Amino acid sequence: MRIGIIGGGLMGVALAYFLSESGLDVTLLEQGNHLGGLNDEIHFGEMRVPRYQNPILSGDLALLDLCARMGLQDEIVFQKAASGFVHEHKLYSMANLLDFLSFPVLNIRDRMRLGTLILRTQGKPDWASLDAVSAGEWLLQNCGPEAFDRLWRPLLEAKFDGVYDRVAASYIWAWLNRMSSIRRMPSLEGKIGYLRHGHYSLVTALAKAFVERGGHVQYDTRVQEIELGDGRVQRIRATGNALEFDLTIAAIATPALLPLLPGISAEYRASLAATKYLGLVCPVMVLDRPLSEFWTLNLTDPTIPFATVVEMPHPSYQGYTVVHLPRFTAPDNDWLGVSDEVIREAWVSHLKMIFPQFDERSISHFAVSRSRYVEPVYSVGMLANRPAVMTPYAGLALVNSSQVYPELPTSNATVAHAQRVAQQIIQGQFQAIG
Ligand SMILES: Cc1cc2nc3c(=O)[nH]c(=O)nc-3n(C[C@H](O)[C@H](O)[C@H](O)COP(=O)(O)OP(=O)(O)OC[C@H]3O[C@@H](n4cnc5c(N)ncnc54)[C@H](O)[C@@H]3O)c2cc1C
Repeated sequence: MRIGIIGGGLMGVALAYFLSESGLDVTLLEQGNHLGGLNDEIHFGEMRVPRYQNPILSGDLALLDLCARMGLQDEIVFQKAASGFVHEHKLYSMANLLDFLSFPVLNIRDRMRLGTLILRTQGKPDWASLDAVSAGEWLLQNCGPEAFDRLWRPLLEAKFDGVYDRVAASYIWAWLNRMSSIRRMPSLEGKIGYLRHGHYSLVTALAKAFVERGGHVQYDTRVQEIELGDGRVQRIRATGNALEFDLTIAAIATPALLPLLPGISAEYRASLAATKYLGLVCPVMVLDRPLSEFWTLNLTDPTIPFATVVEMPHPSYQGYTVVHLPRFTAPDNDWLGVSDEVIREAWVSHLKMIFPQFDERSISHFAVSRSRYVEPVYSVGMLANRPAVMTPYAGLALVNSSQVYPELPTSNATVAHAQRVAQQIIQGQFQAIG
């Protein structure tokens, strides 16, 4: 069976790797001149930094296992990582129970309500009931109006770029669970891991293993149309090429797939269009000294243009720190079109308000990354709207992170999903063109 995978991000590359284990004839089609997608890296001369932050948690078993298979286990560094909040330009640690009990943003009654909610949510098996409830409504009910206004509303506004009314409560459930998992494994309690050379090193190791097993990678191959006819895929039109496969797998975000499918039914188009995505604008800076003692700080002020500050020491350049300052963008947000200079000025001026000691001269390198489709928004009713892997068209599958719901669309979930789907394809569960 000839399989074509559209998209050389972590999902596409992992899928290609797992499929090639069974000797299938797989070709990976990537529009760029290298693989990686969101897990790409930026070069500042000799120095390399991940384009976006890629933390690894101790419970990310699928990802850790894949790294081990690629011989990258010694490349994973787990380090003590404090997290906290920035509220009204002040920093509050949230590293332990004591911090939580003395968190001044909430009164003692609201702190207790929040603590109870976190405990109740942990491992909650009947998360499906939260699929039908909006996050706002659920948090208001469980945490009270004051905690909602002071903490949750600004966090939701910052994360979803103001458009959070339809976000399902199951998203908060998944987020609280992932955050509290940092404290679950005793030996790694409070630690965050990362690959010394970023997730990009995993992508390149997977691609190398895939090619060694006989897989093909076609770079600079932008798929322009998946031609359909008689209810099945006829051919793929890519830059300068017409390609034919028995099974085509689109490993790209749903809104990036829609323009490739002019021939689909109105019903299928509407079902795919139901999943909205957040984009991302993310400046990354390399500083010659630390900015703070925190790995991550969540901001509760939606007027600040970034939502989080994520800081890690550079693994190879001693004394240097890498800081990511992501801002997720709703589909109609115009930050994606703003110049690097304007972004730098806006971001740096707010950093100075949060960290009065911050000196712009400590910035050794600065770059801005922009991605249009980064994260599917888990809306109320997502359980029914989650796109199926097999499309209504024979020979066409869709594999992307919107299908990992209710899990957060992390790289761990991406790898686990790729492995699951590859097994199903190998077992013949999906309809190729026969
Ligand atoms: C800011 C941020 C924070 C994250 N946080 C975490 C985290 O804390 N923990 C964690 O585990 N994971 C995290 N992730 C998630 C993880 O990185 C993603 O789930 C994963 O990268 C998704 O990969 P993908 O292959 O589905 O998509 P992408 O990386 O977007 O790859 C898609 C690829 O398809 C190519 N392509 C698109 N259209 C075409 C076309 N028409 N023809 C040919 N090629 C095409 C693109 O060039 C790209 O290479 C985060 C991601 C971001 C950006």
